[in-house]
Amino acid sequence: MKLPADTLTAPSHPIARLPAEWLERVAAWGEPAYRGKQIFDWIHRQGVLDPDQMSNLPKSLRQRLKDEGVGWPIDIVSAHESADRTKKLLIGTPDGEKVETVLIPQLGDERLVTQCISSQVGCAMGCVFCASGVAGLKRQMTDAEIVAQVLLGRRELGPDQRIRNVVFMGMGEPLHNYDAVARALVLLTHPDGIDLSKRRVTVSTSGLVRQIDRLGEDFDGQVQLAISLHAVRDEDRSTIMPVNRKHGLAELTDALRRYPLSKRQRITIEYTLIQGVNDSVRDAKEMVELLRGIPVKVNLIPMNPISTSDLRAPDSSHVTRFQEHLTRRGLSVFIRKTRGDDVAAACGQLAFHGDGPRSANP
Ligand code: SF4
Repeated sequence: MKLPADTLTAPSHPIARLPAEWLERVAAWGEPAYRGKQIFDWIHRQGVLDPDQMSNLPKSLRQRLKDEGVGWPIDIVSAHESADRTKKLLIGTPDGEKVETVLIPQLGDERLVTQCISSQVGCAMGCVFCASGVAGLKRQMTDAEIVAQVLLGRRELGPDQRIRNVVFMGMGEPLHNYDAVARALVLLTHPDGIDLSKRRVTVSTSGLVRQIDRLGEDFDGQVQLAISLHAVRDEDRSTIMPVNRKHGLAELTDALRRYPLSKRQRITIEYTLIQGVNDSVRDAKEMVELLRGIPVKVNLIPMNPISTSDLRAPDSSHVTRFQEHLTRRGLSVFIRKTRGDDVAAACGQLAFHGDGPRSANP
């Protein structure tokens, strides 16, 4: 893996420093190296960001950390739990922006939680079925803000729960904020910190081809990749996903073929089923052709209603028939259950200031 030594950009905030960067910092203050490890441990393993609570550090060092600005870069404005125990957290930033993160207990074993996190305030990609794209991109989230969603998420868990998967499927196109997301990936998977397995961290993209290549190269293909496909012909995909006008399906699928997967790994294909738009037998047949030779699993997501669009999901029998067309032709296909829809925390419902992330991949 090339990262982190040679391609990571500098951290935006002290809590986004890696252990080696803390070691350098504490050495400059005349402190022994182990203090750097202790600080990283407090922040990323124990989730303690208030220097006053870092009880094994001398008072002078705690003061230095306060002077450096160590503390929460974001906070929880409100939390809403859905009937199925999906929990949506509305996150506030110091400049008054709002994003959301969602905790989704695994069906059948609620101790294991998938957290869906945001990577941008708004989104520049403009997909017509997604509320996040409606108002465009407001700003990039920082590396610290991205990681702090998980640190805050852990505080909301029950005593027997843990975060097992993190999916970049909340607000924003993560690969359009590559540098911050790359540092966040290194932090989230750092063995001395949160220590998530790279295989359990999924970056979902609308199809930014160059950054897909970069992600594959920087992380040796170990980070899970999900593609928001949603249409199988360029003319249709360009209508609902403007990114397709720049990187068409041939270019996208070539990038997927290049992604350096290990033997048993598969790329997740997200396909929101929209009635009358992308749910025909022809669509199913062409999807099989398009994905031929790429190790994939397909998630079919019956579209969730959003207030800015008349588009809707096909009825459930049609969804099942669509799935059958694909499975008969050899694809592995799952119909994703809607979770958290009573608190607008389901796929495609994210909007500014209070709707909810667009998808999760438990
Ligand atoms: S689906 Fe993803 S890439 Fe498209 S507008 Fe929504 S957040 Fe952005």
